Amino acid sequence: MTALLEGRTGLVLGVANKRSLAWACARALHGAGMRLALTYAGERLERSVRGLAADLGDAPVFPCDVTVPAQVDELFARLGDELGGLDSVLHAIAFAKREELEGEYLQTSLEGWRLAQEISAYSLTQIARGAAPLMEGRDGSIVTLTYLGGERVVPSYNVMGVAKAALEASVRYLANDLGPRGIRVNAISAGPVRTLSASAVAGFNTILDHIEARAPLRRNITAEDVAGACTFLCSPLASGVTGSTVYVDAGYHVMGV
Ligand code: NAP
Repeated sequence: MTALLEGRTGLVLGVANKRSLAWACARALHGAGMRLALTYAGERLERSVRGLAADLGDAPVFPCDVTVPAQVDELFARLGDELGGLDSVLHAIAFAKREELEGEYLQTSLEGWRLAQEISAYSLTQIARGAAPLMEGRDGSIVTLTYLGGERVVPSYNVMGVAKAALEASVRYLANDLGPRGIRVNAISAGPVRTLSASAVAGFNTILDHIEARAPLRRNITAEDVAGACTFLCSPLASGVTGSTVYVDAGYHVMGV
């Protein structure tokens, strides 16, 4: 039997280490037959990302800090030369200053707000613009990762919640722009998972305990739960799905109290 994603090529942005949601997604996409390329944001992570890429059939690895536009341009130029085209892109990138992820949202600085928006929300638009010419006419799929804190108040999520709201709106506008070119754009709203980024949010353990007690499935999700939804959205099984936010949160978002 042919694997679900055999013959397809994808780009995964946001692998920092083995706990990264992007890493679970990359493994699942690779396992389903997709040829992958990875990126790293700074020299600090290059070695570890290259080490992980070796487990994905020696996936090529490129630098891409989304705050450096020349690096983004070069990424897509090199992907075009080396891979020919792209079927899928996973955007799993977010950043906010640690001091903005505690206390009151009221105290958010303009600089902290801009930084969170630039890296966590605007970057999807920037990446989609670069990727689109490589994805046209191939049932392309762009997937990003968001969180319930973009729709509801989650204590300490603060400036990142506002960035996720912009990210989710961007998904809808990009879906409309890119649909005529055969490219779907969706978000996965993941429940909390202990990762490097998540550890920056004050009170994260309390959130995990709350979800386990209250979510319909009475458990927290795993990175593999997210990877399953990502594989679906990158596959022909999701050929009619675009502009959506798909919840992978053990059902927590349906709860009122
Ligand atoms: P993670 O492993 O820390 O991944 C975050 C990634 O963003 C890292 O690879 C990081 O690279 C990258 N990044 C930060 N600034 C960047 C920049 N300027 N340019 C390019 N990349 C940059 O944490 P994660 O939890 O898997 O996060 C992945 C995504 O899932 C994020 O969008 C996050 O908001 C979302 N999400 C996470 C959860 C959760 O509970 N974990 C829940 C819902 C949604 P560096 O380490 O080099 O900075």
